[in-house]
Amino acid sequence: MTIVDVHTHNMQLEHWGPEYEANWQPVYGVPWTDVTFEAYDAAMGAVDRAIVFGITAQAVGMNTPDDYTARFVGHNPAKYIGFMGLDPAAPDALDRLERGATDLGLRGIKLYPVLAGFDPTDARYSAFFARAQHYGLAVLWHFGATPSKAGRLRNSHPLLLEDVAMRFPDLKMVIAHLGHPWQKDTALVLRKHANVYADVSAQWLRTWEGFNALIGCVEWGVADKLLFGSDYPLWTPAEAMSALRALPARYGGKGLPSLDPDLIEQIIHRDSLALLGIG
Ligand SMILES: [Zn+2]
Repeated sequence: MTIVDVHTHNMQLEHWGPEYEANWQPVYGVPWTDVTFEAYDAAMGAVDRAIVFGITAQAVGMNTPDDYTARFVGHNPAKYIGFMGLDPAAPDALDRLERGATDLGLRGIKLYPVLAGFDPTDARYSAFFARAQHYGLAVLWHFGATPSKAGRLRNSHPLLLEDVAMRFPDLKMVIAHLGHPWQKDTALVLRKHANVYADVSAQWLRTWEGFNALIGCVEWGVADKLLFGSDYPLWTPAEAMSALRALPARYGGKGLPSLDPDLIEQIIHRDSLALLGIG
């Protein structure tokens, strides 16, 4: 069975502009380590396929060039799938989308509204999403927490995705990190919108919250829409899988609802590329 990691990063410090050192390093406590293809490829030995991207957020000076990501996946295009890191509020967003989807063979888009400072519900971005849908691109959204004091959390709530999902019902989208700490809101969005999925990256970090989030997804009937993601280089896929597999035993059987270990295996082995239409 195939294992797909839908959430990995290829970023270099220069893509961050001033943002990492100003707003992330003080919280994370460590400098950024540039992602080399060799280190990336070694870590991805634990999975069969991986989606990789950087981030562009003009408001805070972040930019991962599409050519860089295309070259990165070009080392092993049979295994890796590149997404553009775009900012729909940037003036060149549509041009980058067109070129990335056609000339560069990139198959999706990573968006980061909390840092880019755009409101996902704003109809001015409709042309952007219409083009993404036209090209069959998948859109992975960072929703939920950010350590950066530069971002507005009000732009990062998963309920904001509803407007895009209703205007573009055929657009395949993923809510990263289950929108933590708003996983229950994410579950309701997944339940209503057939083409919206969520990745489980970082759900093992705050174990009580993650345990509850997965139980909640079972109770709301959306566990089959959860995709495996590691958020490499923060965690390797191997670390992510072992932390996920440890969740059921951590609280289950202690008077609390039990989390079925099979559910974790189903998430890890989900055919995510087929669900996102980029297989
Ligand atoms: Zn990430």
